[in-house]
Amino acid sequence: MDCLFCKIAKGDIPTHKIYENDDSIAFLDINPSADGHTMVISKNHHENIQDIPEDLLGKLSKTVKRVVDILEKGLKTTHFTIGLNNGKLSGQEIDHLHIHIIPRNEGDGGGSIQSVVQNRTENPEKIKEKILKANG
Ligand SMILES: [Zn+2]
Repeated sequence: MDCLFCKIAKGDIPTHKIYENDDSIAFLDINPSADGHTMVISKNHHENIQDIPEDLLGKLSKTVKRVVDILEKGLKTTHFTIGLNNGKLSGQEIDHLHIHIIPRNEGDGGGSIQSVVQNRTENPEKIKEKILKANG
């Protein structure tokens, strides 16, 4: 499979790796939004959150927590934006699930996760009905 992150996980492409365990690897983003912007990936290829098995997602979450501890010590901040772009329309550029950890600092000019889109068209009650109806 011609996947950039699989190649990184195998060590075929060098990265600025800051943590690794049996299931996952964390490395600095090649095009960072902030100093210390880190990507956490599963070593196995899973495209998105629908595709990754629950137990692996759990392990990936543990890695995220560990990496936050590492970044906190190294970068002297306790503030992070943590998230993933799930699907092309959300901004996912590599089809291998990856979690972004972006260190935040006073006056960095960044916004919250909620600020990435404002696209409300229906009231929440109608949306809830639509979602629950489709799920039986
Ligand atoms: Zn992959």
